[in-house]
Amino acid sequence: MSTIIKLDNIVKKFYIGEPNELEILHGISLEVEEGEFVAIVGPSGSGKSTLMNMIGALDRPTSGDYFLDGINVGEADDEELSDIRNQKVGFVFQTYNLIPKVNAWKNVELPMLYGGMGREERNKRSMELLKLVEMDDRAKHLPEELSGGQKQRVAIARAMANDPAIILADEPTGALDSKTGRLVMDIFHKLNKEQHKTIVLITHSPELAEETDRIIQIKDGVITEVRKGSGKPLTQETEKKPTVDKEFIDNTIKEISDLFEQIDNIVVDEPKDKNEVVENAPSEVEVEEKDNKEKASAEDVNNSNDEKKEVEDK
Ligand code: ADP
Ligand code: MG
Repeated sequence: MSTIIKLDNIVKKFYIGEPNELEILHGISLEVEEGEFVAIVGPSGSGKSTLMNMIGALDRPTSGDYFLDGINVGEADDEELSDIRNQKVGFVFQTYNLIPKVNAWKNVELPMLYGGMGREERNKRSMELLKLVEMDDRAKHLPEELSGGQKQRVAIARAMANDPAIILADEPTGALDSKTGRLVMDIFHKLNKEQHKTIVLITHSPELAEETDRIIQIKDGVITEVRKGSGKPLTQETEKKPTVDKEFIDNTIKEISDLFEQIDNIVVDEPKDKNEVVENAPSEVEVEEKDNKEKASAEDVNNSNDEKKEVEDK
């Protein structure tokens, strides 16, 4: 693994030299590894977006060094900076920032157009990316025809357009309800795991931050804490539970049906036996007839014995 983002003592000031000079970042040092998923958390106004603009080469640091995939961002001129951004970074914002007048498909294509890709290839890749975020069925819809979550999925597809090494997301779930935010977070996990994208996520949600590899806490323009996260989506754990429950339910169902089978045997066997007894039992008339027959045959035997005797006597 190699370091893809290396910030060394970054200071960012606004209104430099003016009486209202503002220092927002007071010497941030941070390294992010290729393929890492990190979260930046902290109160409003603490400098998270300013830091993200720095990482995404949207702005230059006032002092300190920043290396993005080995390139010294502080020394790059405007054109180089724009090239670095276009090739290395995909941005996702809270407010989606889609072009309102063109459909989802064209929105995703746009960065490829700037990158100089041919039309056919652009169309194809754009559709593949919409498929990746499960928005291909809405390719021809305008942003205004999409829900917040759908717009954000299109925005993520657009961020992936030039196959950037890094995805920077500034509160991407901030305007979404938690269920939709969950879906968006799952897409980030997918891009991180399956496409090995390095992801820097700014979020207000402590739960979502916990799902990343590392949580970086910022307060008043300095890093106050760095700690490890689970690196796993919460849904994976909640998905496991039903599997355990299902096993339990299956076993219980089996036990209950075994029990029913036993009960069935008892209930079914009883009347069957009774019927057999009743069916096979001779009626009273039959019993009488049988007795008479037996008597008769006994008499026959006696009679024949008598006859024998008579013969012998003779
Ligand atoms: P966060 O994203 O953590 O809410 P920001 O990075 O957006 O915080 O802002 C941090 C501070 O920097 C705020 O006080 C904000 O007003 C100030 N700030 C951000 N950008 C500029 C700018 N371009 N000019 C002047 N002040 C700025
Ligand atoms: Mg912000």
